[in-house]
Amino acid sequence: MGPIGIFGGTFDPIHYGHLRTAFELLNSLRFAEVRFIPCGTPPHRDKPVADAATRLAMVKAATEKQPGFNVDDREMRRDGPSYSIDTVMSLRSEYPHRSLCLIIGMDAFLGLPSWRHWRELMQLANVVVAHRPGWKTPATGPLAELMVDSGTGNLNDLHEYRAGRIYIHAVTQLEISSTALRSIVQGGSDPRFLMPESVRDLIRETGCYRKESAVGETSDHDSLAQEK
Ligand code: ATP
Repeated sequence: MGPIGIFGGTFDPIHYGHLRTAFELLNSLRFAEVRFIPCGTPPHRDKPVADAATRLAMVKAATEKQPGFNVDDREMRRDGPSYSIDTVMSLRSEYPHRSLCLIIGMDAFLGLPSWRHWRELMQLANVVVAHRPGWKTPATGPLAELMVDSGTGNLNDLHEYRAGRIYIHAVTQLEISSTALRSIVQGGSDPRFLMPESVRDLIRETGCYRKESAVGETSDHDSLAQEK
């Protein structure tokens, strides 16, 4: 069995930057699956704007038609902050012999030393770093040292080792962020072609990013609120 790619995020909302990254990693790294794990309560950032049920529904809608994409709601079923170490520990106990590959963007990788028990995390899973526009691999500090000890350019290592390797993989650069998408919707514009239509539909139906003041204020054809 190939590695399980673990793709955590707030997904507030999920977009084509996430989906294209997961798709390229699934195929290029020969993962058995990519498991999307929406964060319940992020420990390192503000509370998500959309509630957990809506974010989960958006992730399910975005991934349901792609073989190899699966959604796992374990972080949402847990109380308290969603620490990756707890998620990876629970996956490791379910899959003691499988390679687990934690997928993170370069921006998230640079913050890894602030994650709870990050060194233990490395003993439980491999890390796959997806290159994002504008971010560089660190040249000094704990991550640079970690790269010397654990970095690999050999894809087979991700299949042979259950944990402990770091693999950097360039993905198609799509400069889309959830933050920008929320602003687009809150500003009354249409996020079409930046995310699947099913996610856009859910945003419209739930009104999860609508600012009270923005509703009904726009009248151009770019407005999500105006969409028929
Ligand atoms: P926000 O703008 O709210 O911070 P985001 O768009 O970065 O959100 P997250 O849900 O926080 O999305 O990201 C989950 C993971 O996806 C992170 O590891 C992040 O680095 C990665 N990621 C986010 N956007 C992209 C993108 N456009 N291309 C590749 N990876 C991405």
